[in-house]
Amino acid sequence: MLFRQLFDAESSTYTYLLAARAGGEALLIDPVQGQTGLYLQLIEELGLKLVIALDTHTHADHITALGDLRSATACTTLMGERTRAECVSAQFRDGEVLGCDGVQLRALYTPGHTDESFSLVGADRVFTGDVLLIRGTGRTDFQNGDPRDSYDSIFNKLLRLPDETLVYPAHDYRGCTVSTIAEERQWNPRLQVQSVEEYVGLMNGLRLPSPKLMDVAVPANLRCGRAA
Ligand code: FE
Repeated sequence: MLFRQLFDAESSTYTYLLAARAGGEALLIDPVQGQTGLYLQLIEELGLKLVIALDTHTHADHITALGDLRSATACTTLMGERTRAECVSAQFRDGEVLGCDGVQLRALYTPGHTDESFSLVGADRVFTGDVLLIRGTGRTDFQNGDPRDSYDSIFNKLLRLPDETLVYPAHDYRGCTVSTIAEERQWNPRLQVQSVEEYVGLMNGLRLPSPKLMDVAVPANLRCGRAA
């Protein structure tokens, strides 16, 4: 499999390029508008045909490249069925298998960070968006986030994947690139709780500042990053 983890330093976002092989069809997860040129160059250099660009959720910290990528490549843009971004080509449902030639991902509805967040489960890895991060979990205090949903998504869905499943999040602020389900269960400090109530108390006590770009990024992302 061809797999590239790309990083946007400004928002600490990871974007994932997947294809079965050089010269084949490709899929991008959580692309950042400011990096569109990089993606298009890499896709061209590898002889790939971009067929799908998707977002795990409506991001509040950067502007999505979905709209620009669709314009540039005529790819299909996808988000989960609960999204309020009506600009996407189509929406996927919980349990639906999506992908391109040689790449299959199962959409797993994992609300909590937002109420429309999905994870994408592949054969040996899971793309967790901002629901489960490496040694952290996504904030639950805006965009209809809910710490109870986050707990349920993590403990009753993601942590039930095989222990060795690789965990690829949408962000990391310290430079960690990948983890596993077993590693997060054991070492993620947010997951060392005895009850859902304890987790809710922990998340509600975080009191984080709003993302710098939130008032710009969310409305822009509801238009897939295109100008109003
Ligand atoms: Fe997010």
